[in-house]
Amino acid sequence: MAGFTIAIVGRPNVGKSTLFNRLLEQRKAIVDDQSGVTRDRQYGVADWNGKTFNVIDTGGFVAGSDDVFEREIRKQVKIAMQEANLLLFLTDCTTGITDLDSEVADLLRRSSKPVYLVVNKVDNQQRALEATEFYSLGFEHIFFLSSMTGSGTGELLDEVVSHITDDMGEASMETNIPKIAIIGQPNVGKSSLLNALIGEERNIVSDIAGTTRDTIHTHYNMFQKEFMLIDTAGIRRKTKVQEDLEFYSVIRAIKALDEADVVMLLLDAEKGITAQDLNIFSLAARKGKGVVVLVNKWDLMEKSTNTARDYEKELKNRLAPFSDVPIIFTSVTEKQRIFKAIEAALEVYENRTRKIQTSKLNDVMLKAIEAYHPPVVRGIPIRIKYVTQLPTHTPAFAFFCNLPDDVKAPYRNYLENQIRSHFDFRGVPVKIFFRKK
Ligand code: GDP
Ligand code: GDP
Repeated sequence: MAGFTIAIVGRPNVGKSTLFNRLLEQRKAIVDDQSGVTRDRQYGVADWNGKTFNVIDTGGFVAGSDDVFEREIRKQVKIAMQEANLLLFLTDCTTGITDLDSEVADLLRRSSKPVYLVVNKVDNQQRALEATEFYSLGFEHIFFLSSMTGSGTGELLDEVVSHITDDMGEASMETNIPKIAIIGQPNVGKSSLLNALIGEERNIVSDIAGTTRDTIHTHYNMFQKEFMLIDTAGIRRKTKVQEDLEFYSVIRAIKALDEADVVMLLLDAEKGITAQDLNIFSLAARKGKGVVVLVNKWDLMEKSTNTARDYEKELKNRLAPFSDVPIIFTSVTEKQRIFKAIEAALEVYENRTRKIQTSKLNDVMLKAIEAYHPPVVRGIPIRIKYVTQLPTHTPAFAFFCNLPDDVKAPYRNYLENQIRSHFDFRGVPVKIFFRKK
């Protein structure tokens, strides 16, 4: 299993959105704007003690009759049970147990996934005493906290991350072949790309039908290389409701990302990169995934001599600071540069596994440091003694120095650029740490 996902469910106003924001801290959420009776659904990634997990705020309704509520709450619980590994059932100690809470509890008692009952708005000692009535709902795991102040959230997070094993953020180990996820907004050409690949390819080893899973894995053998394509394109028919469709597509995209080594992010050339694309892109970078950007429908662009060059430059500005990423201009319908895109993804896969010998690394980097010294802080020069690549899944480097906390972003960026210019880490997020010598 790749990626651990929790979902927050509960009736309106118990504080789902507040808890969601608390769990994500300042990190940006991917918001699925809702209209009508439902409030925004949100999706994001939280960190706790070095472990990351996905959080879904299933939203809720803002107004409507009781039967509208019935329908919405059932939908919310259904999404949570399908998509999450663990459910947080949020309630509000200031109102006590309401009829609606009891209804949600009834739905959740049938869940095969673990459910944590969370009593929110326990802002002080007095409220903690009153909140004990919630034991009567009969859930085995119960937490009392205040999403507003943050008190009690640590205990909850400790319990949540205890479910996460070290390899969950990594692509599954079921096979050792590269896993490439095809991701992008609706209509950018994901299904067409898959069809084009399947059409060209005569050596498909196996095709795992994915009707019951979140993503479809197709095993390929191409250019004498094996790889697995992970896509979400086919999984559309689960719901007929437009707003749910969008939400599911975001959840699926992020699950595909969790399962992949490399993400192929498809854009529509005419529309350019959207805010949602940038969210996915930075999520991929945070999760240490390799990235290739495909600017698709390039056939529809009016072109002159420098169109591609200018487009690429502009796009890299938007992707900054992580702009060392292959950008391929494709036309899936005209079958232009599709295989180049696959090759680029496989190169990124190789780059992501690259390990640089310590001696070689120090040769190059100590020279770079000599050429441009770190700054002097409080009269003391920062001295970097040596650097080593850490034995992590994704490239990470530790620089050992006298004042690790005083090396700031500009110098960090300089070092990263030097690493990138000497060794090929194109398409791969690189992490840099400073440690006390
Ligand atoms: P949702 O509809 O379940 O997403 O609820 P919201 O997150 O929008 O919160 C509803 C209201 O409860 C807002 O006015 C919040 O400020 C308030 N709220 C949320 N958490 C707490 C808390 O821990 N303590 C207190 N006192 N108020 C809270
Ligand atoms: P998905 O929603 O991302 O899976 O997108 P589809 O593969 O269903 O494509 C949406 C529409 O865009 C279809 O009508 C495709 O024929 C069209 N399309 C896909 N790729 C290209 C392309 O490279 N050029 C042009 N002109 N149309 C494309």
